[in-house]
This record gives sequence, C-alpha cells and structure tokens, in this order.
Amino acid sequence: MTKTLIPRLEVKSLTKVYNNTKVVDDISLSVFPGQITCLLGPSGCGKSTILRMIAGVENQSSGEVWVDGQMMCGSGFSEPPEKRHIGLIFQDFALFPHMTVWQNVGFGIAKTSENIREKAYDLLSKVSLSSKCDNYPHELSGGEQQRVALVRALAPKPRIMLMDEPFSGLDKRLRDDIRDETLEILRSEETAVLLVTHEPEEAMKMADEIALMRCGEIVQMGAPYNLYNAPVDRASVAFFSDANIIKSKVNGALANSPFGQFLAPGLADGTRVEIVIRPQHVRIDFDRDGKGPLPTVSMGIAARGCVVRARFLGNESLVEFRMDFDNSIFKVTVPSVFLPKVGQPLWLTVPRDRCFVFPE
Ligand code: ADP
Repeated sequence: MTKTLIPRLEVKSLTKVYNNTKVVDDISLSVFPGQITCLLGPSGCGKSTILRMIAGVENQSSGEVWVDGQMMCGSGFSEPPEKRHIGLIFQDFALFPHMTVWQNVGFGIAKTSENIREKAYDLLSKVSLSSKCDNYPHELSGGEQQRVALVRALAPKPRIMLMDEPFSGLDKRLRDDIRDETLEILRSEETAVLLVTHEPEEAMKMADEIALMRCGEIVQMGAPYNLYNAPVDRASVAFFSDANIIKSKVNGALANSPFGQFLAPGLADGTRVEIVIRPQHVRIDFDRDGKGPLPTVSMGIAARGCVVRARFLGNESLVEFRMDFDNSIFKVTVPSVFLPKVGQPLWLTVPRDRCFVFPE
C-alpha cells in the first residue's frame, strides 16, 4: 500500500522549557495514517509533555504541530484542543460513574448520529464487552474499565490517537489481548497513533517505528528491528536488554578482547572503546580437560568463566559467570532450562557480528 505524502501528524522542532530547563528539545517526527509510532524512553525524558503539546493542552515553547497539512500550533498561534480532532488515551482513564458502559461509549459518538446504542454495542463487542453494556463502571474490573475507556476514545474515529502508557494498568495476559485488539481497530480505521511507553518490549511489539528518547531528545528513530540490531550507543543497547561490557583500546581499526578481536571501523588508534555483548548472544561450551572450543573466524576465542549463579526465568535461564580474565561478572541467557552447578567452569564465545563497539 502506498502512503499518503502528507503525514497525518507532523511535529517540527518541538521544544518545551520548564524553569530554564529544556525537558523537550527540538523534537521532529511524522506519523502517517495507519502507522503506529512509539515514544520510548525512561520516566521523565519528556514523552508525556510531547503528547500534551500535540493535544494542545500544553503550550510549546517553540516548534510546530501539523495535522493533515494544517498547522495546529506554531509561533503565536494555537488551535484549541477541541478543534484538533485528536483522540487521547491516558493512563488515568476516567469513566463517567453515573453513566452505563454503553452511555460512556456513546458519549464519544456524534450526538447527531442515529442508533448510538447499537454503535456503542458494536464497538464494545470488538473488545468482548458487549455483555456489560448496561453495567455501571463500578461493576467492572479495572481491566474492563480500561477497555471501555479505550473504546470510548476510539468512538469518535479520531484522525490521530495519542496514547500514554494505555495498557500499563492491565495484567500481562489481558494486556497482550487488549493491545492486539486495540491496534487492529486503530489500523483498520487508518488512525495515526503516537504511543508513549517506557517498556521496550511493548514498543517492539506494537510500533512500526520507535523514537528512542533520552533527556528530552530523540537519540534514535527507526523500525524496531533497526533499533535493536543497530543501536547508536551503549545506553541504547542497555535500554532493550542487559549488556555485558568489555573495555578495550583501538589498534588498527580493531578492538582486542579476551574473546578475540572486534571490528572498530572509523575509530582512531588509541581510542578507548566498550565492546557491548548481549547475554542472549553468548554461546556456552563445556570444559574438556581445561580447554574450550578452538577459535573460529566468526566466533573468535573462547574465554573461561565459573558459574556463580543460575536461575530459570520461565522462557529462558540466566547464568552468571565470574570470568577468569578479570574476575568480572558476565551474564548469559540460554533458551529453556540450563542450570549448571555453582563453581562449574564453562567456556564462553561471542559471535563478532552480534556485538557492538562504541567509543567510551
Ligand atoms: P515522561 O512522560 O517521559 O515520564 P514528562 O514529559 O512527564 O516525562 O516530564 C519530563 C520532565 O518535565 C520531567 O523532568 C518533569 O519533572 C518535567 N515536568 C513535566 N511537567 C512539568 C510542569 N508542569 N512543570 C515543571 N516541570 C514539569
């Protein structure tokens, strides 16, 4: 499917200053119809402030917001929130307590439309709540209330939906189902979605595009696959998973380590670097008479460590080693059950192409 050339939502150099501090610093991004973009980053990095400025409930210090090629706010100009036709789902969803479930949903449907009850019923059946149409919010569980809030926000068919940690109040299994249902509805309506989360897993599951944020800035933007496989720095790796770090120095565009040499292209001799290795990429081999596997081009050299802890985590096992080369702790995850004894010596190798080398 070809995308419209004009983004549904376009944010240009959006900046917010509170008490002389830039909490949102020169943010630019575009979201197209039917696309889901996640603002991902730790708490306090400015994600919600961006949503509030787009919604129009907070004034920007500078920058512009455009919807379908029309300016919503820019220097000296700001459309009020109700004229922006932007849907909002925030963490602290609030249903009207004196209205039934269908009346809550019907509130979002244009008053002029007919059969509001049937329309509300149809929407509620998409999230398996049609049987609760005539109940009041206090008769519903927290998860059910949140689903009603989602449906209510979807009812007016907004062109853009801004969602701030909308699934965080739900338990894990319910969350997966509701997330999938909600996204299906939003995609089918060609809504452009900007969603805030601090959970990498959630962003990976949902987003077409992730904007990774830190201290008010976007540090990297791209498809989940690219962010995971081509992170820009150590902190970006660490945001998505645990990371083992080995310090080294560049010599002839290579960084030496107890696991062999790693490519360090473009870095000058003498540059201090960190080799970053994800726990799931480490291979474990048994010790054979004090020896490990022979070196290979793709896996480099094996380094020995002794098990200090091994735990089964459900889908995988986490084994921690104390490495012979510098006594540091090295974390390795293994699919399924692998629980070697504490003190057992094992050999670790890392595939060169799965590791990252960053200047320190
Ligand atoms: P996030 O959504 O990523 O957790 P926020 O956008 O809520 O982050 O906040 C970003 C920063 O702006 C935080 O340091 C927060 O304390 C600050 N902040 C948010 N709102 C205000 C405000 N009304 N006045 C002063 N500082 C604020």
